[in-house]
Amino acid sequence: MKMIAATNNKHKLEEMHAILKEMGIDIVSLAEVGLDIEIEENGNTFRENALIKARGINCITGKAVIADDSGLEVEALFGEPGVRSARYSGEEGPDKDKKNNEKLLEAMANIPTSRRNARFCSTIAAVFPDGKEIVAEGFVYGKIGYQEAGENGFGYDPLFIVDGYGRTMAELTPEEKNRISHRANALNQFVMKLKEELG
Ligand code: IMP
Repeated sequence: MKMIAATNNKHKLEEMHAILKEMGIDIVSLAEVGLDIEIEENGNTFRENALIKARGINCITGKAVIADDSGLEVEALFGEPGVRSARYSGEEGPDKDKKNNEKLLEAMANIPTSRRNARFCSTIAAVFPDGKEIVAEGFVYGKIGYQEAGENGFGYDPLFIVDGYGRTMAELTPEEKNRISHRANALNQFVMKLKEELG
């Protein structure tokens, strides 16, 4: 099965591609189908944003589309940065991840280890040519570190110490991350739901 991935984030694309190809689903990027488009994410939840992206691209192309909306929720920050994860520091462009991580470290400066719990969330929304929709969610739990560590991944990965691993997400290999990540958990659930639909 072929699906268009409604994202311009190359890291997400790589992760989705690696995880979904194991499950027999081939994804193509917006660029590969000739779409140069920025979708405004103005929903209040990951679910709303994932559906906005998947429905919009399905409407334009008529094809099967899969979208991920994801982010980091920090307990001590009442769930922030949440749906605003990408634009937490207000910064756009290549320095965005660095600025977001600096802002997060500042916000967490006086918070002790016992209260640094956080989780990554991913909501996957898929819309098919016949209008059928599937939504799936996945999480991974951890703690916010005191400084960045690791070179892999993207976004908040260098600050997210994965429960049970004692290493940040950015210190895991891409294969390790793709086995345990919020995105992997959501995509696994999506494939289970898809199989149920197909009987
Ligand atoms: P989205 O494009 O609105 O879904 O933005 C997701 C944002 O959440 C990214 O820009 C990152 O800041 C953060 N995020 C989502 N998934 C991950 C991940 O796997 N690792 C690190 N940060 C992530």
